[in-house]
Amino acid sequence: MNHPLSPASPAAPHASGPFQAALDRWMTGPRVPAIPARGAGHAPPALSFEFFPPKTEALEQQLWACIRRLEPLQPRFVSVTYGAGGSTQERTHATVARIVAETTLHPAAHLTCVGASREEVDAVAHRYWAAGIRHIVALRGDPPPGERYAPHPQGYRYASDLVAGLKKVADFEISVAAYPETHPDAESANHDLDNLKRKLDAGATRAITQYFFDAPRYLDFLERCYAAGIKASVVPGIMPVSNYAQAVRFSAMCGASVPDWLGHLFEGTENDPDTRKMVGAFVAAEQVRLLQANGVDEFHFYTLNRPDLTYAIAHILGVRPMPGIATPP
Ligand SMILES: Cc1cc2nc3c(=O)[nH]c(=O)nc-3n(C[C@H](O)[C@H](O)[C@H](O)COP(=O)(O)OP(=O)(O)OC[C@H]3O[C@@H](n4cnc5c(N)ncnc54)[C@H](O)[C@@H]3O)c2cc1C
Repeated sequence: MNHPLSPASPAAPHASGPFQAALDRWMTGPRVPAIPARGAGHAPPALSFEFFPPKTEALEQQLWACIRRLEPLQPRFVSVTYGAGGSTQERTHATVARIVAETTLHPAAHLTCVGASREEVDAVAHRYWAAGIRHIVALRGDPPPGERYAPHPQGYRYASDLVAGLKKVADFEISVAAYPETHPDAESANHDLDNLKRKLDAGATRAITQYFFDAPRYLDFLERCYAAGIKASVVPGIMPVSNYAQAVRFSAMCGASVPDWLGHLFEGTENDPDTRKMVGAFVAAEQVRLLQANGVDEFHFYTLNRPDLTYAIAHILGVRPMPGIATPP
């Protein structure tokens, strides 16, 4: 039966050009439903935010402005990365220690196996515990650029070994990394999934994923995790992009694919940071809303020490600042 206003219907007004094309598309093509909006009354999702330790005084100020801006959103935890080969060991420690001392936040320190013996890694973990840090993001880490990963002769070989070692140091809460698009060094996607399970079985309580841009990649991965018997949370890592060229470079290094549509959205914004920021906010907001509409209620944000996009996207997800904690503008 014809739709009452289909072009073939006698009641249809005469249409032409783009209007006709839109009408034809609406009448005959798939009707794209909106992502359902979440009203008030739902508990907000659980968030975590990732920062990197600053190298200079100016970056230190930027990081602390970012921490203070996001603090009222009361994330479950915030994490601080560890530079390649332990290069930021002191700065990572100083940052998490200051977060413990001066904020209401619960910090997690990233720790890697690269370039250090077990004894040295254990000593860093003991220091964290003594400073009141109870949560570690345990990683293998990456080799210096251009080199292949080789474990330290007396070191932890893989993140699963590090998790087991940390559990012997103290009863840390431990998060580990997961890869919806498979880690670049993995023998196969199934081997990589076995590895994730090994890390969780060794004592980690959650996985945080590498970032991805197509939500179904993560949702398919979740399904594969479930089929592999993984019961722990596999929290999606969200990277709000405001610098597309930089995101392309990062993605090539870490094995995250950059879909054509993303390049198309950022096309022509190379010298237009304001538009890039708005496009980045739109992309990430659509991604998290789609995940939320599919039942995902935990998100980890790679903030790159810039709060604006993360704050706005958290707001869209239904997170509101906690009264009593000052929100800097
Ligand atoms: C949320 C998150 C945070 C990160 N933070 C940091 C950071 O702070 N500092 C940093 O330097 N890097 C960081 N990284 C990057 C990470 O260190 C790299 O991706 C690294 O190459 C792998 O680390 P992993 O812990 O996943 O390694 P693993 O889990 O050890 O896996 C590494 C590779 O080895 C394979 N593998 C594991 N066990 C075996 C086995 N027994 N036999 C054969 N193959 C095996 C895996 O399949 C995988 O391909 C982070 C990544 C994520 C997703």
